[in-house]
Amino acid sequence: VLRHRSGGPLLSQAAPGGRKGAVVVTSEELASAIAARQLIPYYQPKVDLNTGLVKGVEVLARWLHPEKGVIPPSQFIPLAESEGLIHGLTVEVADQAFAQVARWRQHGLSLSVAVNLSPLLLDSPDFVVEAAELLCRYRIPAEQVVWEITESSLAADLGTALGNLARLRLKGCGLSIDDYGTGFSSMQQLSRVPFTELKIDHSFVRGAHRREHLRVILQSALDMASKMRLVTVAEGIETAEDWTLLQGLGCVLGQGYFIARPMPGGVLPAWLKEEGA
Ligand code: C2E
Ligand code: CA
Ligand code: CA
Ligand code: CA
Repeated sequence: VLRHRSGGPLLSQAAPGGRKGAVVVTSEELASAIAARQLIPYYQPKVDLNTGLVKGVEVLARWLHPEKGVIPPSQFIPLAESEGLIHGLTVEVADQAFAQVARWRQHGLSLSVAVNLSPLLLDSPDFVVEAAELLCRYRIPAEQVVWEITESSLAADLGTALGNLARLRLKGCGLSIDDYGTGFSSMQQLSRVPFTELKIDHSFVRGAHRREHLRVILQSALDMASKMRLVTVAEGIETAEDWTLLQGLGCVLGQGYFIARPMPGGVLPAWLKEEGA
């Protein structure tokens, strides 16, 4: 349970696997951690379900705290959002991720990179400008970048967000609907944003084996997405059965612990070699 009062500490349960008791972080601590580059990107592979080939990675932020260990995003993203730190955090993490992608490129490894965007970043064109500068600095083709936006964050008024998403798309970047199926966006609303990808939330993947109606929902979402020429991605592939089921339903890409957990950038090339991917 997250309890957060503006300016006060963020109290929460220990991170899964952390087992170190409640982690308490303040906005001051988070601000200096961002500046000190304690926030770093981990990378989780996105794999072609038909061929097993790794097509790209999703960037997932981690806070490597000198005393508290690895702090997961659930414990600092809400704080960053409420304390006006999400812009700086995202630019900092994207900067490191694009530098990594550029190094992989130099070694002949061409991977697309997906970055999660808070809806707060879409209120003004500032982030779009900085994102373009980063792509330029690291000479990353915009086509290799995907911005992930959760469906639920779009439920409100599309307003300025629509313009800024369109700007990112016009530069050539991909736009992904994250956690599809958990929000209440109408088809009409979704069709106004120039999305290129749809990520099925893991809650659908998890229950699909036992529940016929979830398979029906999955199938129709995947059919709709492919008719809209969206790349489809299933989140939370945790077993071989999940992989086979989603592949059978025509989902293009998959992501999940069965394939790989999010990992530091330095580890990914060795993992790829091991996988023969
Ligand atoms: P998300 O974008 O939906 O990311 C997927 C989450 O599912 C990640 O959790 C990932 O580690 C986890 N996951 C991957 N495969 C599996 C699986 O097979 N089973 C299960 N149970 N989980 C799996 P993580 O890294 O803790 O991130 C949580 C959320 O925090 C993300 O959800 C995203 O919304 C947010 N987040 C992470 N990094 C950033 C960031 O840099 N900026 C923003 N704005 N949000 C971020
Ligand atoms: Ca995501
Ligand atoms: Ca997701
Ligand atoms: Ca999520």
